[in-house]
Amino acid sequence: MARKSAWEKYDAASLQRIDGFAKEYRAFIDQGKTERECVALARQAAEAAGFTDLEQALREGKKLNPGDRVYRCWMNKSIVLFIVGERALREGMRILGAHIDSPRIDLKQNPLYEEDGLAYLDTQYYGGIKKYQWVALPLALHGVVVRIDGSVLTVSIGESEEDPVFCISDLLPHLAQDQLKLDGEKLIDGEALNLIVGGYPLPGDEKEPVKANVLKLLKRKYNIEEEDFISAELELVPAGKSRDMGFDGSMILGYGHDDRVCAYPSMRAVLDYKGTPAHTLCAVLTDKEEIGSVGATGMRSHYFENIVSELLACTAKYSEFYVKRALSNSRMLSSDVSAGYDPNYASVFEKKNAAFLGSGVCFNKYTGGRGKASSSDANAEFIGELRRIMRDGGVTYQFAELGKVDVGGGGTIAYMCAKYCMNVIDCGVPVLSMHAPWEIISKVDLYEAYRCYCAFLRG
Ligand code: MN
Ligand code: MN
Repeated sequence: MARKSAWEKYDAASLQRIDGFAKEYRAFIDQGKTERECVALARQAAEAAGFTDLEQALREGKKLNPGDRVYRCWMNKSIVLFIVGERALREGMRILGAHIDSPRIDLKQNPLYEEDGLAYLDTQYYGGIKKYQWVALPLALHGVVVRIDGSVLTVSIGESEEDPVFCISDLLPHLAQDQLKLDGEKLIDGEALNLIVGGYPLPGDEKEPVKANVLKLLKRKYNIEEEDFISAELELVPAGKSRDMGFDGSMILGYGHDDRVCAYPSMRAVLDYKGTPAHTLCAVLTDKEEIGSVGATGMRSHYFENIVSELLACTAKYSEFYVKRALSNSRMLSSDVSAGYDPNYASVFEKKNAAFLGSGVCFNKYTGGRGKASSSDANAEFIGELRRIMRDGGVTYQFAELGKVDVGGGGTIAYMCAKYCMNVIDCGVPVLSMHAPWEIISKVDLYEAYRCYCAFLRG
């Protein structure tokens, strides 16, 4: 099948719309580098668009009506938005789902130590990273520290010009002959991902004066003690903002396109929806996808199903049967990024079934690898319907696989939603250098994803 460029159909005026949307997206990913930050931003945007807290409606026993807009945060790391439809919830929803956690490096629970005149924080990486890509680059520290009295310190250090950044050192090439003979996976040992955080010794006769000075600064500046690291979630991400990329500025180089490049347009498609839909609309921005959707904030937990139950309790007489019907009658785009075809690494792709940058939003009928293992294989009937919706909406799209059949594979949240028996398919934006500190996407694919999600919600 001939591949189309998604750029072709745009004239000068509509190119500006693509660029405007890209700017808004960049502002979102520059401020929302972690799941918690994305939830805070999404909540703010939802409230500005007239959404109210479902939890509050529940507490007050408030009845929700068609056209009402509500959101529900889950443990500050996942968020669900709804627009209540004309039809009963049990007739199913139109769901957009994406994840807002990205590969990164987390701090350990007892991270701080001093060695040979430098203070370090010890780490554990999160998600599938090539460790050698995360050394010798500026890192910023984001997250929360919960003190023993329950007060919460929100941390973001390394993003503004005045802030210091942090760094994990790498070995100089002059002394790296042995290191460079190692497999890529072993080039940097997981236990060598130690972050340098200080080098100035506290005057006096402390046994570990550099560490002591760091602790003194932490106490003075943030009112935290060494023990407070135990109840902290601190995440290291590449420091700095996303950038337009290429002479033509047609791409964006940024941290965590996977999967904010789908989460942002999913959220926007629901926030921007005008009027009252027939079916209830939903966007779920979820945590923990990068480590298998585990935990109380990942899609494997019951939080999504529970929140749908809460919505049902506010719109109709509650019954478990209706919750099951609401889920199984739903249709969902599990919005996650796809591997963009990379001519530098052509041998791992099968070109007829690869996703190309600039060719529009990308559907994956199935993900998984090595014989469709662990994939959610979308139904042909559902895909036929999506083709009609995409055609009517004038959306440029492509169908692809992650890579060659026996090369590897990857999963998304699709199969966990499929267990509710709903029709679900993976649908997102092709990315180059996925899971690297800085990933690459095309602005037109981002915009086509937004248009695809809007068309899907309109049905
Ligand atoms: Mn992803
Ligand atoms: Mn990923």
